[in-house]
Amino acid sequence: FAPWDDPDATPLIEFRGVTKRFGDFTAIDDLTLDIYAKEFFALLGPSGCGKTTMMRMLAGFETPTEGSIHLSGQDIGRVPPNRRAVNMMFQNYALFPHLSVWENIAFGLKREGREKGEIDERVTEMLRLTRLEKFARRKPHQISGGQRQRVALARSLAKAPKLLLLDEPLGALDKKLREETQFELMDIQEKTGTTFVIVTHDQEEAMTVASRVAVMDEGRIVQVATPPVIYEQPASLYVADFIGDVTIIEGTARRAEGGYTVEWAEGQPPLRVRSGLDLAEGARCHVAIRPEKVEIHRNRVEDDNVLKGTVIDIGYLGNLSTYHVRLADGRVVKAQNFNTERDTRQPFTWEDEVWINWTAGCGVLLER
Ligand code: ATP
Repeated sequence: FAPWDDPDATPLIEFRGVTKRFGDFTAIDDLTLDIYAKEFFALLGPSGCGKTTMMRMLAGFETPTEGSIHLSGQDIGRVPPNRRAVNMMFQNYALFPHLSVWENIAFGLKREGREKGEIDERVTEMLRLTRLEKFARRKPHQISGGQRQRVALARSLAKAPKLLLLDEPLGALDKKLREETQFELMDIQEKTGTTFVIVTHDQEEAMTVASRVAVMDEGRIVQVATPPVIYEQPASLYVADFIGDVTIIEGTARRAEGGYTVEWAEGQPPLRVRSGLDLAEGARCHVAIRPEKVEIHRNRVEDDNVLKGTVIDIGYLGNLSTYHVRLADGRVVKAQNFNTERDTRQPFTWEDEVWINWTAGCGVLLER
């Protein structure tokens, strides 16, 4: 039973009607949000949507113009950064170049005047957690980018904060290392039980690591949910378009059994969509279809939504291929096929006439 589904669960962090203005520019707009202990929570959105401002308010580098932020029930709006059980790991890691890995990790503990025995124990534990035992004596310039990232993480966790803020923590790493490190981060988060809030503009990263994702747009949160819900049941056109690959078709809704049919182009069959959405008869709407839900065939098939088209582009990704199929009216629908067998690796080629189809339950109906 997830805490966000439990009406009796107490959040670790509570944003209540938080607004942040810089001059007359509103960066965060009347935002309310709960984050629970032990969550790996992602703030996701395009550049300028206010993600970093949210982090900076949690860390204490900015104060809300209006509203309140509570941590463990305490209003932290005016508590200075060093008095919060919060730590922030910066994008550039900000390691001390002249200190060894060991000293970098120990730095905050020493500054707090902790006992030597305790510092030794804690640093050793952090080195083990981040698999850096072998590099303890090296300086930051003597280790790889991925290792530096782990030193920064070890250092931010050394003081056992309740909350760790990660601002684009993997931005400096190449794709492969980035993907590996995502799983390491998840592992470390689980082992320490620390609440992580990560800021990213990379939707795949957010979907991979997070227990829940908040999708932001211009200082507001447009949807907060688990990754599968964000992907399968986007709350708006903005979310559907921002997360993953999608074809969006605009049309007019007509009520039908179990949902709607959507009229969208002259001479094309209306699209069938299952949906609990309450739209007025004749309302303008959108249907969003994920490419992996669209099947592609040489011959006509029987299904809810069957359309004829021509292959105009193929993206070969090894495990799967993405086909861009142009319909008679010029619209392009993306279809994805898994390349499971060697001899079907590229069963379709450019200019092939094909039929595509998807079942009514696979499209998502969205309000205009
Ligand atoms: P990015 O992914 O590019 O870092 P972001 O979503 O983290 O973007 P923020 O850094 O939170 O965005 O900024 C949100 C908005 O607030 C931006 O339009 C930015 O220009 C503005 N802003 C942020 N800090 C200040 C400031 N100190 N003074 C004026 N405007 C600011």
